[in-house]
Amino acid sequence: MKDTSGKPAFRPRTRAVHSGTRRSQYGEVSEAIFLTQGFVYDSAEAAEARFLESGSDEFIYARYGNPTVAMFEDRIASLEGAEAAFATASGMAAVNGALMSLLRAGDHVVSSRALFGSCLYILEDVLTRFGVEVTFVDGTDLDQWKAAIRPDTKVVFFESLSNPTLEIIDIRAVSKLAHAVGATVVADNVFATPVFQRSLDLGADVVVYSATKHIDGQGRCLGGVILGTEQFIRKTVEPYLKHTGGAMSPFNAWVLLKSLETMELRVRAQATGAQAVAEALSGHPKLCRVIFPGLDSHPQRALAAAQMEAGGTVLAIDLTGGKEAAFRALNALQLVTISNNLGDAKSIVTHPATTTHQRLSEETRAALGIGPGLLRLSVGLEDPADLIEDLLAALEAA
Ligand SMILES: *Cc1c(COP(=O)(O)O)cnc(C)c1O
Repeated sequence: MKDTSGKPAFRPRTRAVHSGTRRSQYGEVSEAIFLTQGFVYDSAEAAEARFLESGSDEFIYARYGNPTVAMFEDRIASLEGAEAAFATASGMAAVNGALMSLLRAGDHVVSSRALFGSCLYILEDVLTRFGVEVTFVDGTDLDQWKAAIRPDTKVVFFESLSNPTLEIIDIRAVSKLAHAVGATVVADNVFATPVFQRSLDLGADVVVYSATKHIDGQGRCLGGVILGTEQFIRKTVEPYLKHTGGAMSPFNAWVLLKSLETMELRVRAQATGAQAVAEALSGHPKLCRVIFPGLDSHPQRALAAAQMEAGGTVLAIDLTGGKEAAFRALNALQLVTISNNLGDAKSIVTHPATTTHQRLSEETRAALGIGPGLLRLSVGLEDPADLIEDLLAALEAA
């Protein structure tokens, strides 16, 4: 039985709690975990019919789909305003699935250069091995997009808000350029979060998330999701993913489904904290810059305000004292933890140059603005006053 109480007429906060719910014959209030790989058919004819064509609430094998995973997919699709979604084992399975299912040898891709390391690996190393040509641009420079997008460009890819330097892509303008040549726009929207940015309304055709980040928001599960039109998800993504094994586990889907109920509340609280921390650290004598889209000092402040409802939950600070000062600050922190996830309830700090972006050459890092003194700070759900005290004390020690 499929519950329709998440109908689109309801506001996002209501849909976050109700959309996609499928109740079993027991009428459970909290959604069930269907921890099953397979499904039983009433007859040989029923099995034949299911394989010929499954309805949207009929399942064959958990690699293809599962009721708990479907609840997660329907709920996030409803929140994102997408027709359909396919859940994946991780954010990278989503990025890989979206790109590999869309592209073939000889195709041309244009991508922004400021990418999460694993995204860069797929575009630079994997796709090119299969004869896909990739052109990288400075995502903040519309002229570079204009020059790189060609009549035969098939896909345009970017992180709408880049990691870790928080550069913003003008989704409306880049999508317009892409659509003029019939290219599909794929946006990795992790940093902007499903709460603060409506990438599909801005012009993107496909949105991918690492659900590991704000969707879980409590540091437990890997997960990912690809969102787009019904036609794209069912005819392009699903055949690729169901046969290549990137499916989300039903247990993780259940954790992530329940997390969607509180995501907006969590992300808004974290963003308020991030704004407070960014403002408190601005102008600190040991910092040459504080990068946060919610600050007037952000070079793309106007675009941030036009495209995002708030500055997000992540900021970057650059210590004038370089790596030594950055490490001294990290080691002096009492509350903020050193790790490399983001979007977690616990505040997390990362030194990108020696961890997440270590693989890049020093020149590439410099071109991306990832200097030796740069720290990425993901603001959690702690009291911002405690975070500010901890960070100021750590800077004192730096
Ligand atoms: C974390 C992240 C990913 C990858 O997600 P996983 O769930 O770790 O596989 C992709 N893109 C961005 C922008 C990310 O931050």
